[in-house]
Amino acid sequence: MTNRIVVVSNRVAPVNEGRTAAGGLAVAVLAALRRSGGIWFGWSGEVVAAPGEDVSVTESGRLARATVDLSERDYEEYYNRFANSTLWPLFHYRVDLVNFDRGNYVGYRRVNRKFARRLAGLLQPDDLIWVHDYHLIPLGQELRRLGVRNRLGLFLHIPLPPRELLATLPVHRELMRCFSFFDLVGFQTETDRSHLLDYLVREARARVEEREGGAVVRAYRRTFRLESHPIGIDTRYVERNAAKAESSRESERLRVSLAGRRLIIGVDRLDYSKGLPQRFDAFAHLLRAYPRHLNRVSLMQIAPPSRGAIAEYSEIRRTLETLAGHVNGELADVDWVPIRYLNKSFGRRTLFGFLRQAQVGLVTPLRDGMNLVAMEYLASQPPDDPGVLVLSRFAGAAEHLPDALIVNPYDVEGVAKTIQAALAMPVEERRERWQRSMQVLRSNSVEAWFERFVSRLSEA
Ligand code: UDP
Repeated sequence: MTNRIVVVSNRVAPVNEGRTAAGGLAVAVLAALRRSGGIWFGWSGEVVAAPGEDVSVTESGRLARATVDLSERDYEEYYNRFANSTLWPLFHYRVDLVNFDRGNYVGYRRVNRKFARRLAGLLQPDDLIWVHDYHLIPLGQELRRLGVRNRLGLFLHIPLPPRELLATLPVHRELMRCFSFFDLVGFQTETDRSHLLDYLVREARARVEEREGGAVVRAYRRTFRLESHPIGIDTRYVERNAAKAESSRESERLRVSLAGRRLIIGVDRLDYSKGLPQRFDAFAHLLRAYPRHLNRVSLMQIAPPSRGAIAEYSEIRRTLETLAGHVNGELADVDWVPIRYLNKSFGRRTLFGFLRQAQVGLVTPLRDGMNLVAMEYLASQPPDDPGVLVLSRFAGAAEHLPDALIVNPYDVEGVAKTIQAALAMPVEERRERWQRSMQVLRSNSVEAWFERFVSRLSEA
């Protein structure tokens, strides 16, 4: 008999959400839980004046969606402040943007404790518990405090920075110890895994035994495993739907508006980790250095606003508006603007249709856990005439996609030169690189990733 799986994440996707709206991860989680039976536990997304003690449970077949509401204060201290204004910048190497306040850390721990208490009441002894991401690093410790002895796994979707950066966090010792309460901790890349190992060896005198598949660590009087398990996308779904979307109304509107000009595309949540100002600079540099591209190539940057309540996010938005306005003012013509800058979101299938039309996919974050758009760009390409992915070496995806053109996003001239190389690449080379990349994406779909982690956790 297979164990029941309990997935815990900050947000829980609606059970009946179609593939169009939900991301690959949500779809994979829902499908796997339907198969094995299980619970998806987390925040409902609701902020209410006085949240009760209850968990709201909706069952659909063998799958239950269990959610709790947050109070205004929980939402502010746990979500907006400690998770997204402290851990997010720190884990993306942006020590300069970290806002630390002990009160917010206390709020973060309080919500993790609250989650643990509510979740504990739903558990059965053989359940495998799989916790997701930086919002819930202390959840393992809180569950153990309540006497939960189940297998516990954590997957970190974002990067984990080097020890010297982690050590700038005043509560780093307490927080990093939290990893030890899980049986298995998974990372997107070997780099992230090695950073935690180095931290544990040097700050907590961990003993490490490297085995096939990962490390067994002894520290804080506990034994746990650290492994790298890169996430994938629902590759076949993206391939199929990108081909279908070619004839959609939105794709047609884009095609007509381009009038035969070439397209470079970027799709990113509006976030300072995505390297958007540097990207706009690199594109402007391309146009100035290779003026033959004037009125011949456009950059379409889709950047839906996110986390608007946090000051750094309004600031990056203002910076980009100024920059796009400046480049367009300088270089546009009566029938052409260089940068089409769109602050709105699109459905995934519409996006795949846009990605398919672009000769270059520009994915140049300053730091990114993985970057799913990079993979979606590749899977959306027409096999006979695929475009070229220009990918930051600082995205987790670069560790798995060596056939992309790898760039340093801080090197504006270098990125411009690489875009030029991408635009000039002969079709044979584009096909070869694309086919090799697609082998990676097809063999590591999000479903395969899910199954692999669960199977490692059940052995841990
Ligand atoms: N996405 C979307 N609509 C948009 C922009 C993005 O559905 O307008 C999706 C995109 O297809 C991808 C996800 O959001 O699946 C972004 O994931 P990624 O890892 O690239 O970045 P994150 O936002 O998680 O940092």
